[in-house]
Amino acid sequence: MQTVLFAGCEPEVAAGVDGRILAVGKGARAAAGRRAEVVRLRGRAWPGLIDAHIHLEGLADRHLTLDLTGTKSLNETLARISSWAKPLPKDAWVVGTGWYNDAWPDPAFPTSTQLDKAVGGRPAYLRRKDGHSAWVSTAALKLAGVGERRGILRETAMDPVHALVPKPSDAALDDAMERALTDLATFGLTGVHSMDSARGFGSWQRLRNRGKLPLRITYNLPLSDLPHAERIGVRSGWGDEWIRIWGVKAFLDGSLGSRTAEMLDGSGTQVLSQPDLVDLVERCVRAELNVCLHAIGDGAVRRALDALAPHREAWSSWRPRIEHAQCVNAKDMKRFARHGVIASMQPIHAVADRELADQLWPRVSGHSYAWKALERAGARLAFGSDAPVEIADPLAGLEAATVWRRKANWHPELALSRAAARRAYTAGAAYAVGMEKDLGTLRAGKLCDMTVIDQGRVVATIVGGRVSFLQTPGEASRRSSPKPRSRP
Ligand SMILES: [Zn+2]
Repeated sequence: MQTVLFAGCEPEVAAGVDGRILAVGKGARAAAGRRAEVVRLRGRAWPGLIDAHIHLEGLADRHLTLDLTGTKSLNETLARISSWAKPLPKDAWVVGTGWYNDAWPDPAFPTSTQLDKAVGGRPAYLRRKDGHSAWVSTAALKLAGVGERRGILRETAMDPVHALVPKPSDAALDDAMERALTDLATFGLTGVHSMDSARGFGSWQRLRNRGKLPLRITYNLPLSDLPHAERIGVRSGWGDEWIRIWGVKAFLDGSLGSRTAEMLDGSGTQVLSQPDLVDLVERCVRAELNVCLHAIGDGAVRRALDALAPHREAWSSWRPRIEHAQCVNAKDMKRFARHGVIASMQPIHAVADRELADQLWPRVSGHSYAWKALERAGARLAFGSDAPVEIADPLAGLEAATVWRRKANWHPELALSRAAARRAYTAGAAYAVGMEKDLGTLRAGKLCDMTVIDQGRVVATIVGGRVSFLQTPGEASRRSSPKPRSRP
C-alpha cells in the first residue's frame, strides 16, 4: 500500500493508505510525497456520486431472467417472451421483468390468455417495470391457488405467486450481482443506498470477501425483517463504510403507473394503514433504526409526515426519509424541514412519467416531481435512480433535475441549479445515511471517493482512494465497453 496522487484533474487529490483524502488542490502533490502512485486523469473531480435509492437484486436479476425493458408493443413483448420460453423444459418457470404497457400503442393491461400462448402453458411471472404489478400465466395462478382470471396481480396480491418462483443459486446470484455493481461503477457511482432483501445482503458480503465490491453499499432492509433486526439488536450504522445497515423500507402506497398511488382526492391504494405506520415508526425509533417510507401520492406523503412529526429529535442520527415523494401538496412542503424529513427523490422518474402525470394528476402536476419547491421550502434532498425501474446513470438524473425541465417545458420553474442537483447526489445522499462526516465533499480527512467527469462523461470512478473504473483513452467514444478494475 502507498499514497496515491490523482493528477491532471481539477482539483488534484492525494489519498493516504487508509483510503482517506490527505489534501485537495495545491497541496496535493506535496502531501502525496515523492513515492506516491500517480493516477493520471483529466477533467473535473467531483465528490463521488451516490445513488440514494436503488434495487441491486433487481439489477442483478436482469442478468438472470428475461428482460423486457424497452419493448414497444404487446406483440413485440409476446414475441420476446415466446422465443425466451421455447428452449426451456415444459414445466420450467418463465420469469422476467420490464414490460410497460403505458409505452404501448394500446396501453390496456395484457391478459393471462395471451401469456399462456406465448409461454406454451408454462408457469410465468413477469413483473411490470415499476414492480407494483405482475403479469402471470394460468399455470402460475393454478400452482399458487390464486383465483385471478385476467392475469394481472397488483401489490401484495403478487406475493403467493412470487413465493413459488425458483431462486437462482448463490453462485449465479453473485456472478450477476458483480456484473450489476461493475455497471454502476462505470456510471460513476461510488456508493448506493439499496432497498433489497437478505439475499442481496448475503451476496455483497461474499463479493466483498473476494475483493469484488467496486462501491459502498448502505442497506435498508424490508419491513418484513424488522422483527429480526429488533431481536438481534442491530442499529442504524452497523457495519463499516463498505457495507452497513441503515433503515427499514416500508411501502405506504403503490405507484403512479399502476394507478395505486394514494392521493388526497381518495384515489389509489393504502398499502400500510395509518395505525400500522405509526406503530412501525415507533418501533424503529425505539430500535434506533431509520425509516425509508415509500410514498408516491400526496395522500401517502401526508400520512408519512404525520407519522414522523412527533419524533423530530428521536436520536442524533435519526434521518427519516420519504422515498419518491412524487406528489406533495403545497401545504406539506415546509413540513419536511420542520420534521427533519429527507426527500429521497429520483429525478429520472419525471422524464418517464411526465405524460402519465399530466393525464392522471392533471390538477397537481405542478406539485409533482417538485424538487425545486421542496428545496425552496428547506427540505434536504437526496437523489437516486430507483434502478432498475429507471436507468441508474446519475448523469441522466442530473440532466432530468436541471436543464431537462426547461427543454421539455414541463413546469420549468421546478428545475434545480446544477450545483444543487449535484449536492443531492453527494452531500445530500451522504447526510441521508449519516455519513456526512466521511463522504459528500472533497476535503482532507474524508474518504477519497470521486467521480471524474470529462466532456460530459465519466472517465474515472475512485472509491476509498482506489480506481474502481477507469476509461482508457482509446475508448473515449465507446461508453458501452468500459474497463472495470476490481478491488484487490
Ligand atoms: Zn424503489
